[in-house]
Amino acid sequence: MEHSTLLKDGYIVLPDETVKGSIRIRGEVIEALGDIVPLDHEEIIDCSDCYFLPGGIETHTHLDLESMGTVTADDFKTGTLAALAGGTTTVLDFATQFHGESMARGLERWHEKADGRSAIDYGFHMALTEWNDNLKNEMASIVADGITSFKMYMAYKGRMMVQEDEIYEALEEAGKLGATIGFHCENGLLIDLFTRRIREAGNLTPYYHQMTRPPELEAEAIDRLETVVSLLHTNHYIVHLSTARGLSSVLRARERGNDVIVETCPQYLLLDRSRYGTPEEHNFESAKFIMSPPLRERRDQEALWQGLASGDIQFVGTDHCSFNFKGQKEMGREDFSKIPNGAPGIELRMNLMYSCGVAGGRMDINRFSVVTSTNAAKYFGLFPRKGILQVGSDADIVVFDPKTEWTVTSDLLHENCDYTPYEGFSLKGKVRDVFLRGNRKVISGNVVVRDSDGQYLRRGLPDVTIR
Ligand SMILES: [Zn+2]
Repeated sequence: MEHSTLLKDGYIVLPDETVKGSIRIRGEVIEALGDIVPLDHEEIIDCSDCYFLPGGIETHTHLDLESMGTVTADDFKTGTLAALAGGTTTVLDFATQFHGESMARGLERWHEKADGRSAIDYGFHMALTEWNDNLKNEMASIVADGITSFKMYMAYKGRMMVQEDEIYEALEEAGKLGATIGFHCENGLLIDLFTRRIREAGNLTPYYHQMTRPPELEAEAIDRLETVVSLLHTNHYIVHLSTARGLSSVLRARERGNDVIVETCPQYLLLDRSRYGTPEEHNFESAKFIMSPPLRERRDQEALWQGLASGDIQFVGTDHCSFNFKGQKEMGREDFSKIPNGAPGIELRMNLMYSCGVAGGRMDINRFSVVTSTNAAKYFGLFPRKGILQVGSDADIVVFDPKTEWTVTSDLLHENCDYTPYEGFSLKGKVRDVFLRGNRKVISGNVVVRDSDGQYLRRGLPDVTIR
């Protein structure tokens, strides 16, 4: 009989309740949970006073992505080790179909980047930079292959931006197949206009990046998207929602009957635009926070926290897109528009959301596990293999110690980046042990198994009933 391990005497976190008990792992799956009597010769790991959480599911990363003349600091090897250390056992990255390419070509390239290099299980969304009949004809085979979520950008004209006719047809086709499309909602045309004007006026410091993308442009794009959706009523979601205004647009669309699902990110919950300083300051350090959408106001953070807790927002991904400050962010020293957009976040997602969400009194531990794992598993077609602690599910388990208090410094992290936007954050609680399909890869916060044995996940269709 296969070796078994008993995680003894913790608190099992389920979507609606927390139960004191133990978990038995046999092979790669959960064999039993609850009140369990240890077997002879069974390996026993004491987990008293710790929570058992379903392994985190990261819904939004850009690993090994070429962007703005450089390539992200984290690839699949470093990014997934960082994820693992932080209690994330599944990652969904954006494979990209660039102009003129087939989706199959984009997918092939992403397999080359990821296969044999990932320390956690992984799947891909497919980002589409355009829409045409070839892509339309290809979509069914991509969905059949287990890529059941796509992405389109309403910003970045000339590189990725799509317009309403393309969105309509893509949604129509995805709808026939039962797949979903995530949208980057910002008005790309106005962003380009504002960028041109601000640069022509000689305003080139990092402060001005945010001035090119005011919050209204997110809400406007959501309104426009939801108008298209209301003609079709097909599955779709909004990636990295960053504003209270945007959330209001979502709520209005829902009142009109649109079934819209929403992702937000830790940076929009925890960091605000004061990080960009003032127009008078010329502190290039603020380039560390240059991302799109940009950081917003405190009142936006509050609205997003409330949305997450109430069920208006369904899951949390990080948009991890890391560039070193030295040598990469610095490419924009003379011009903010040349600063690579993005920041790291994959490693701290679970710890930040616990500390600031649960310990911070904004949501209970059950909702925390739902927005960091269960909902993503359901929406991205991985449930119940992933996203829940139950008999027969993959033994992707985080042993979380709520008592440890610690301070974030970038040198503690496994991300291959020379800074973290969360430097100096005092956190309550910490990921202790992490199991990937029964394999104890993290012990006491240390990654002890660094094998690249993450499996590629072919995914099912979205469960759109998540709240
Ligand atoms: Zn992104």
